[in-house]
Amino acid sequence: MTMEKGSISVQSQNIFPIIKKFLYADHDIFLRELISNAIDASQKLKTLANKGVVKSELGDLTIEVVVDKNAKTLTIKDRGIGMSDEEVKKYLNQVAFSSAEEFVKKYKAENTIIGHFGLGFYSAFMVANKVEVITKSYRKNAKAVRWECDGEPEYMIEDTDRKNRGTDVILHINEESVEFLEKHRIENLLKKYCRFLPIPIKFGTKTETTYEGEGEEAKPIETEVDNIINNTNPAWKKSPSSLKDDDYKKFYEELYPFSQAPLFWIHLNIDFPFNLTGILYFPKLSQQFEVQKNKIQLYSNQVYVTDDVKDIVPEFLTLMHGVIDSPDIPLNVSRSYLQSDHNVKKITSYITKKVAEKLQSLFKKDREMYASKWEEIAPIVKYGMITDEKFYDKSKNFALLKNTTGDFFTIDEYREKIKVNQTDKHNKVVMIYASNGTDQKTFIDAAKTRGYDVLLLDQIIDNHFIQHLEYKGDNLLFVRVDSETADQLIQTDEVVDSVLSEKEQEKVKTLFESVLKKEGNSIQLKPLGKDDHPVMITRPEFMRRMQEMQRLQGMGNMDMPEMHQLVINSNHPLIAEKLLKMKSEEKKEDFVKYLYDLARLNQQMLKGSDLSAFITRSLEFVS
Ligand code: ADP
Repeated sequence: MTMEKGSISVQSQNIFPIIKKFLYADHDIFLRELISNAIDASQKLKTLANKGVVKSELGDLTIEVVVDKNAKTLTIKDRGIGMSDEEVKKYLNQVAFSSAEEFVKKYKAENTIIGHFGLGFYSAFMVANKVEVITKSYRKNAKAVRWECDGEPEYMIEDTDRKNRGTDVILHINEESVEFLEKHRIENLLKKYCRFLPIPIKFGTKTETTYEGEGEEAKPIETEVDNIINNTNPAWKKSPSSLKDDDYKKFYEELYPFSQAPLFWIHLNIDFPFNLTGILYFPKLSQQFEVQKNKIQLYSNQVYVTDDVKDIVPEFLTLMHGVIDSPDIPLNVSRSYLQSDHNVKKITSYITKKVAEKLQSLFKKDREMYASKWEEIAPIVKYGMITDEKFYDKSKNFALLKNTTGDFFTIDEYREKIKVNQTDKHNKVVMIYASNGTDQKTFIDAAKTRGYDVLLLDQIIDNHFIQHLEYKGDNLLFVRVDSETADQLIQTDEVVDSVLSEKEQEKVKTLFESVLKKEGNSIQLKPLGKDDHPVMITRPEFMRRMQEMQRLQGMGNMDMPEMHQLVINSNHPLIAEKLLKMKSEEKKEDFVKYLYDLARLNQQMLKGSDLSAFITRSLEFVS
């Protein structure tokens, strides 16, 4: 046999069933695609009018969606440019032939045309077993045509009667898709995909109630009005200088009805090197921020695409709310493609930069206001600092630390403030913090008595955040206020003398060990001050952090007991004098247990039957 070369021909016959089945995972996308076509047709007409190609009045361009349950049809009507029979043949019969590019090139239309791929129209066949198109071109003396196709490659085209310019696409809904004959289903879809499309979309009528007269006399008057689905001119499309704070808040309310007003917002607006508009809001997050992702909506030329923006918006900013609109983000393509797309990468870093700049300017302009909102924006900023190097570099100048007195400092300011007093023997600046201002009160007081300043770091993310600051900042160390006794929070070589002899110290230690051996504590004797508590429980920083990390990541045993250190202040009169002078072994034992319970009480560790036994015993003491 002689060699033969050729190319495999792909025919629409073969490709058709594949498109029908697999083009879109979500069948409901067809409505978005067909309405996008209707929008494109209307926008093209506007462009032609602007260029003077079309001279007549355009009239009302409202697109209409009509469900007819009896006839089992769903119709999308537009008053756009329409198509001649040639165009129908060219555009509708050739799969993957889009006129969008051609049109944009020819008329240099601003990038407002949605279509790209030339496949959208065929998504109609996912839900319809027959599609009719009745259309009339905008051109003078154009003849109306009717095209019909039942999902097989064969189609029919004929002249028809139609007075007005524009296109009706009539879907004969198939058996499996009858849901799309339900009004509420279509209305919901329209609200999802078409809420901000630039041409009005009408879906039936609705009753509007107005009142005539005043007060109790007022009479309700009901009128039927067009049910217009969309806001054709959403805030993000307007110029920032034309918008007031209230407009931004109103738009937020439109996006998320019944939410608390946002803290502040960033209006994104760039057309080079890519096209992007949008508004991102810093929401009012509750203190323990619940995971509120998927609140940012992605649009392409005002067509809703998705609320899953994690490949476009950096992870930490997915906690923000709002809208991003970019025709330059490729749609309908796979995730992995998105991640490697150049535009997407640039968009991501642009958004990050904008957010950092906004925060920086708020910080500079009105520090007091900024500080008052800090705790609500902190989770987002801290999350960003941990996960995004560039964001860290910018934010370290406006990320704030709040101390237990309620004052705010930048990281550098705080370092300066505490440096003299809180540098340890390894030359590390030690930032002392509390994770709970109430529970750790006695420890905070003890540290303050020693002249230390104590930060309040009580957000879930703080654990990771301080770890990151230690890693980034040079010679910086964080210790929780109850991780050590106050004298050792800042490690020094200072030695304090014990009032007890070595023998006496040994005696105290053995006593505590024998009474509390069941508790499994490691016991340490320390000559602290008279004002320090006689017995203390500390939670060593390193172990505690490890356990907290494991718990946060859902690893490790939840019931794993916490590591504690029992510290006995051998210089406290209750130990050095009272305990050592006691005669009865039983009394000594009771006393040790009591002091131990006080220490546990101080660490919120005394609970249940231990707590009630403690109270009974206390009552005996005082009676
Ligand atoms: P795309 O929208 O990506 O260009 P489609 O398959 O959805 O691809 O449509 C193919 C072409 O058919 C469009 O580019 C347009 O020229 C034409 N077309 C589709 N719907 C309409 C309509 N309602 N009015 C006018 N032209 C239309």
